[in-house]
Amino acid sequence: MAVKQEDILKVLSQIKDPDLGKDIVALGFVKDIKICDDAVSFSIELTTPACPVKDQMRDQAYHLAMALPGVKHVNINMTAQVRQTQSQQKDELIPLVKNVVPVASGKGGVGKSTVSANLAIALSKLGAKVGLMDADVYGPSIPILMGSKEAPKQGSNGKIIPPVCYGVKIISMAFFVPKGEAVIWRGPMLTKMVDQFLGMVDWGELDYLIVDLPPGTGDIQLSLCQRIPLTGAVIVSTPQDLAFQVAEKAIIMFKKLNTPILGLVENMSGFICSHCGEREEIFGSGGARRYGMATNVPFLGEIPLATDIRVFSDGGKPIVESAPDSASAQAFIKVAENLAAQVSIQTMGGADPNRPVPNEITQPSQSEVRIVWNDGRESIYSTRDLRLACQCASCVDEVTGQKRLNESTVPKDVHPVAIEPVGRYAIHFTWSDGHRSGIYTFEHLRSLDKGVKVGK
Ligand code: ADP
Repeated sequence: MAVKQEDILKVLSQIKDPDLGKDIVALGFVKDIKICDDAVSFSIELTTPACPVKDQMRDQAYHLAMALPGVKHVNINMTAQVRQTQSQQKDELIPLVKNVVPVASGKGGVGKSTVSANLAIALSKLGAKVGLMDADVYGPSIPILMGSKEAPKQGSNGKIIPPVCYGVKIISMAFFVPKGEAVIWRGPMLTKMVDQFLGMVDWGELDYLIVDLPPGTGDIQLSLCQRIPLTGAVIVSTPQDLAFQVAEKAIIMFKKLNTPILGLVENMSGFICSHCGEREEIFGSGGARRYGMATNVPFLGEIPLATDIRVFSDGGKPIVESAPDSASAQAFIKVAENLAAQVSIQTMGGADPNRPVPNEITQPSQSEVRIVWNDGRESIYSTRDLRLACQCASCVDEVTGQKRLNESTVPKDVHPVAIEPVGRYAIHFTWSDGHRSGIYTFEHLRSLDKGVKVGK
């Protein structure tokens, strides 16, 4: 007897969206189920094309559906539909733009424009429709960073058609103000500029409009943000900036505006030597991660201080476009995935407040990783056991679910050389044996721990 639609939905409800903490059937992600004798097909529609665990989710769905009696073929179509921020103000100004994400910093020179440009390109490469608005009225640098050669054009509908660079639609004050002319913007002029940039530009349909804000947290930033309907803000800081609480000023500004903070990016975090590739912590690092854990502000990732980032930006082709496989570009791509996840959480009504999240991750010794969770549980892992529990596609066969990793090839003293959070749902380990593709969801880590102490 052929399998029924209810049976498929029932097994698929075992799969949880890691960001939202709910199952994919309850979230309405499973669509277009078709059954033809022993063949089953369906779509899983995620909330962002930039989901880093979409392959894991597809594999899980495949195995669950294949295990149903009478099913011999399973075809899964992974799609994405970015959800939009609900806002009447936004619908009046820019109805086709789903999410507006300002990138802010407590002061200038921390790499806010560099981060904005690389994030925009990374999101576009991951499959999203992206715009980049340069609202840095003091020093509009986006056209140079993005190597824009052409000015915006006037469309037949009277709207401004933005140039497209590396898949991203860009608009900047620099297009409208003669070079070298000092721009002193006051309240009403600024408001007019924002209205023009938003309403008069033919953005078309956009999943994410990234806004490069002027540095600092004065009245100009406030009035810009009040005018723009925001999904949530990204704060860029350097390690020393965090130590001096400069970044916190920007966080406080958005709290005043009732705008969620989507996350913190630590830029210029550790220096990567262009000769030997060694990393040196000139200003210290990890401050943003610790700050995030202490204050519940999501940590989106660290970008190293690297000569190649500056050189490619100066050349008008940001590193995510010119050297996408470089370590620096990969760091930006990770931040972009984490940002997209945070936008999904915001637009889907927030994360489940009861789900376990680590408060502290440490390595008490080379052979141990310790996590203290928000519910007081303490998990101690043997580093080798953790390495062997990796579920990435090179360690576990995607089709059969069988382990591919030959345990005897993993050194006895294997240990993490880097531990980085992925959004608010997983941890990425880079291992001393060179393995770097493992993402461990919090649920997976909770199911693995041994020697647990609950409560304190
Ligand atoms: P902001 O927008 O905060 O004023 P910019 O993005 O213009 O800062 O960056 C200031 C300078 O620092 C630029 O020359 C840029 O190329 C450089 N820069 C930014 N981030 C990095 C990085 N991670 N590594 C190396 N240079 C960087």
